[in-house]
Formats: sequence, structure tokens, C-alpha cells
Amino acid sequence: MSSIGNGVGIAVLPDVFSYTDQIVNLILVGNPNETNEFVLVDAGMPNSAEEIKGMVQERFGEHAVPKAIILTHGHFDHVGSIAALLEDWNVPVYAHEEELPYLTGQKDYPPGDPSVDSGLVAKLSPMFPNHGINISSLVNALPTDGSVPFMPNWQWIHTPGHTPGHVSLFREQDGMLIAGDAFVTVKQESLYKVMTQTKEISGPPKYYTTDWDAAYESVKKLEALKPQVAVTGHGLPMSGEELEESFQYLVEHFSEIGRPESGRYVN
Ligand SMILES: [Zn+2]
Ligand SMILES: [Zn+2]
Repeated sequence: MSSIGNGVGIAVLPDVFSYTDQIVNLILVGNPNETNEFVLVDAGMPNSAEEIKGMVQERFGEHAVPKAIILTHGHFDHVGSIAALLEDWNVPVYAHEEELPYLTGQKDYPPGDPSVDSGLVAKLSPMFPNHGINISSLVNALPTDGSVPFMPNWQWIHTPGHTPGHVSLFREQDGMLIAGDAFVTVKQESLYKVMTQTKEISGPPKYYTTDWDAAYESVKKLEALKPQVAVTGHGLPMSGEELEESFQYLVEHFSEIGRPESGRYVN
């Protein structure tokens, strides 16, 4: 399964580069014209390590290695290649404290819920791996003061709901938001929309989200920051008026377009 954006990178800002690996985005933060220090946010699909290393080298030069990997959360499509990358890169990984049990082999995520949507991706979701991974030796909790290691001027924001320890990353000075799966800009349950990357703001991917009240609170928390540019875990970047209007619409209509009407994890 891959989308039309597969293998394509977009410089959203001079220091924020979003790369689409099949269906999921990973992000390089750091301006290659100013520094060779950068951070990787999320680690893509399984079996993508070589592709990710190639992408990193293309942007930051041969032998380039990030200072750290920051995880928005631990779902398979966001940590798929992390173990393989860490074999080559001896770098620290940071995630929210409440996400650590899924990254240290203590807990598995609940299985995907196929009943939330008629779309094919939702139907396929029980086949997605839900096993937590084990990178105990390299993963750390994010600092409690809200700062993000090796990402000066950014703060992490706890945005649970999609997973217990989901975080988003925000830079106040320019309103840049890396939202992970707190909300996304493609209707991730629909294979057609994923393939064509049709832009459409949506709540977190439905088949995986287990706490819808928390997910709604998280969306409201992010909207209140009035981000100017957003890169989400799935879909294309959004900015300016389009982002503002879509985000407001999502908050006001969350019960219709965010939350599924029924499903295993809906009360
Ligand atoms: Zn996810
Ligand atoms: Zn995802």
C-alpha cells in the first residue's frame, strides 16, 4: 500500500522537511544550509531503514546522523524502522513517559478496530501489527519541563487519546506544529483518499484511537495554539487560512467528522 506522495519530501519550512514513506510522514527538523545538527521525528514504516537513511543523506550529506529521534507515539507506522535505524545510529530516542511501556516491551496496543469506518484501511487494520516494540536501551522519557532535546524553541505537548502518551511538537515563534496522529489531513480510513492524498482534515485515525474524549480535548488544545503550519502523521501539510478554517471546523464538528458513531473503543 502506498500513496501518490510516497517517497516525496516537502520542505515545509527551511528547517522542517516532511518525507512520506508509503502512507506515513516522518520529519527532519534542522536547516541543512545552516547546520549539520538535526532531529528525526518518527521512524516510518517497517523495512524502510535504507530508504530513510538515503533521504537523510540526501538532505544532510553522506554519513549524516540525527542527534536524536523523537517519537510522537509508538504505532507500527511511526516506529516501523526504528530498530534497524538504531543498529546504525547510536542516538537517543525520546517519547512521552506514558508511551514508554509500548516501546520497552511491556505493553501492546489494543488491536485496530475495523468497525469504525467502511473504508478499506479501517477494514485492514486488524492485520496491522499492534505489538509494542522493545528499544529499552535507547529510549528515554521526554524532559518534564516541556522542552524537546536538540530542538531549541520547540515544546512538546501531551495530546493523548490516539494513544496514552501521544505528543505533538510546537514552535510558538512561527506557529509550526508537528501533530503526529492527534489529527490528520487525510481521511486515513479510506484507501482511495490515502492513495490520492486528498486533503481533508480529520480526527486521529479512527481504527486505532481508543479514548475519544481525550482525543477531542487534545484537538481543542492544539487548535487553541492557533498554529500557522501543520504537518500531521498522514496527509499533506496545511497552513494559513486553510489550516485555521479546517481546524476550527474539526473542533466544532468533532462528534460528526472526528469521532466514529460506533466502534469497539467508543464507550
Ligand atoms: Zn497512530
Ligand atoms: Zn499513524
